[in-house]
Amino acid sequence: MTNSPRSTYLLTGGSGFIGSHLADALLARGDFVVVLDNLSTGRLSNLRPHPRLRFVQGSVLDELMVDELVHQCDVVVHLAAAVGVKLIVEQPLHSFTTNIRGSEIVIEAAHRYRRKILVTSTSEIYGKNSSGPLPEDSDRVLGSPCVVRWAYSTAKAVDEILANAYHSERGLPAIIVRLFNTVGPRQSPAYGMVIPRLVRQAITGVPLTVYGDGTQTRCFAHVRDVVDALLRLLDDERAVGQTFNIGSGDEVSILELAKLVTELTGSTSGIDLVPYAEAYGTGFEDMTRRVPDTTRLRELTGWVPRRTLDDILVETIADARAELVNPRR
Ligand code: UDP
Repeated sequence: MTNSPRSTYLLTGGSGFIGSHLADALLARGDFVVVLDNLSTGRLSNLRPHPRLRFVQGSVLDELMVDELVHQCDVVVHLAAAVGVKLIVEQPLHSFTTNIRGSEIVIEAAHRYRRKILVTSTSEIYGKNSSGPLPEDSDRVLGSPCVVRWAYSTAKAVDEILANAYHSERGLPAIIVRLFNTVGPRQSPAYGMVIPRLVRQAITGVPLTVYGDGTQTRCFAHVRDVVDALLRLLDDERAVGQTFNIGSGDEVSILELAKLVTELTGSTSGIDLVPYAEAYGTGFEDMTRRVPDTTRLRELTGWVPRRTLDDILVETIADARAELVNPRR
């Protein structure tokens, strides 16, 4: 079943990278969008003014505000979070409390008004489980909670547990998605994500920083493919009560990625191998491999990613070049 046309969607974190692309897609198909964002990592310039778009500057920690906005909307997409390994490592307390308390407030409000809610979780859930493509029921393999990366994974797991418990015990129509590496235009290089960083480095002529030995692998999905998956799940009643991986299966090592960026930009920057400890501080742990199994999503909705890594890089490079000339705020 499809949500009635012209529903009102509340997007928490809607002026961030993924949220703003979701807002574009919802507006393009005729829906109304309310964005709640505190502009900590989101940018107002990510949102194009539109008669069916309303922007509210505020925090998901503001219970009254969240209550009022959830009440006014039909569907909630909870994207607001402290994200990016760099931010999480630098501000562990802020990240942990925002990610747990903020989600609790948004999920509780959705329950209060019986609104459908899509909660965005993360591939970090699987921790350092680096075995092949990971289906949704894969084990979580975590190091010590003293390592902030695993604290982030734990916070997101708490969000998932809460949404699941509200669904099974109180009937909240909740969908959980675990986003794997998502990239594309508007992703800021400021929060450590590898593609925007490497692309900026390449086009500004500074060495590309590859952490560790660069053999670790990731799969990068284009944000518009990810948004397509989100819409398919939001529109399908069968998705309620389930958890879905969203990501590309196209695996690349970070060193190969840096070479590809160099080639596509024509950069003469060169590549620097930077020890993890230098990049993230001592005791940092990375996963050697992270590949999603998206069978569940594909079988339910028919979704497959359509853009290749080359498509993604070409578009991201063009976007980064445009931003250098005309910086977004
Ligand atoms: N990375 C890198 N250079 C950078 C930023 C990140 O080599 O300038 C590496 C990082 O250590 C990780 C991979 O690229 O192995 C992906 O990092 P990102 O932060 O984009 O995502 P995540 O670690 O969450 O997969």
